[in-house]
Amino acid sequence: MDKRLQQLLSQMDMEDAKIITSLLNKLSDSSLDDVTLEEAEKRLEETRAKIKQIEAKALRKLKERELNPACNFCSSKPSEVKHMLKSDSNLYICNNCIEACYEQLQKLQHT
Ligand SMILES: [Zn+2]
Repeated sequence: MDKRLQQLLSQMDMEDAKIITSLLNKLSDSSLDDVTLEEAEKRLEETRAKIKQIEAKALRKLKERELNPACNFCSSKPSEVKHMLKSDSNLYICNNCIEACYEQLQKLQHT
């Protein structure tokens, strides 16, 4: 999946992401044979409006997150933790969660 699309999907509400994913699936299998051109156009127009709406909402959330970063795993703010790391795909993780992951890994290695 496109990285940008993936990023946007991750910022959407579960419901919105489901709508978009199913729409994209529908659009890509091109089974519009039994639909009239007018119907297809209307459907696409509605789809486009809906996608724009959802995209705008997700972009707003992405911006908010950039201005107001929080750990994606425990929702801690940078002021509440020692360190906050940011990945290329705009994921934030705090030192507490990294330590927890590390501990889990170590446990796994010893079993
Ligand atoms: Zn965290």
